[in-house]
Amino acid sequence: MTIFAFTNDDPGMQQPELFAELLDFLADQGVPGTFFVVPYAGQQPLDAKPAWVALLQRAMADGHELAHHGYTHETPFEFGVPPGFMLDIIPDAKTRWQSNPASVAPLHTAEVLRHKLEAGRVIFQRTLGFIPTGFRSPCLGMCDTTYATLADMGFQWSSNQVINPMGWRYINRDYAAGESWTPGLPPRPFRHAAGVTEIPMHSEYTWYLTEDDVERHFQLAKADFDRARANGNPFVALSHYYAMTGQWATGLRVYEKLFDYARQQGDVQFVTLSQLVAAQKEKLNHELTIGNG
Ligand SMILES: [Zn+2]
Repeated sequence: MTIFAFTNDDPGMQQPELFAELLDFLADQGVPGTFFVVPYAGQQPLDAKPAWVALLQRAMADGHELAHHGYTHETPFEFGVPPGFMLDIIPDAKTRWQSNPASVAPLHTAEVLRHKLEAGRVIFQRTLGFIPTGFRSPCLGMCDTTYATLADMGFQWSSNQVINPMGWRYINRDYAAGESWTPGLPPRPFRHAAGVTEIPMHSEYTWYLTEDDVERHFQLAKADFDRARANGNPFVALSHYYAMTGQWATGLRVYEKLFDYARQQGDVQFVTLSQLVAAQKEKLNHELTIGNG
């Protein structure tokens, strides 16, 4: 059996109507998603945004999972330093990190990180009546202190490491980068040294695509799915609702093709990340522990 997890970031931020379009698509497809929700985007708590509250309640009723995504999401350095392939598509952040790395350090003390996570949790509890068990950082910027704080606060899993950076090279339209899967990173869930389960994602495939991009980006996703399946590992995709809907709904076409392809292979199960962790529990117990990559 191959496990397929569709994940999507940034609900709580701009354009809720585009999130509704994604929910409609997933309902048609019968595919559950894991949504990484920002609790305090735009300096306003989630419960001050009725359109988002209604959509997130619908998402839960539809069988999707909601997880914790940063706090304000205003800076890519909110919970750590994004990986190099991410900084390459955010030039301002890259310049800041290269010219003044000390300027981000105050964001990453245990006290500051815990405060942001606790404040986010209060908003989730107050708005939606539950506390998420999973976390993803804005722009995937993580640090050891964030992993340790997640473990200390009882988060069960994190999904922040990237198996195939090529998705971001594609965003830069560098299709010939020829970058390999991340060396040293297990391409499957593993127990992070801090104590949480890390669920690496394969890549981002649908960032503001045009008609001409569909087949190329489908092929990148398909190759990752095939390689995961051949090795008996889960496949985990990252996406952003606003970059794949509306005038950019070409991204939904990539997923339509990918879901169809996965079903054609047979014995595929579409799951949320908490379901993925539960399904992989036996394997995790025998997994090596490694430090932060
Ligand atoms: Zn995000």
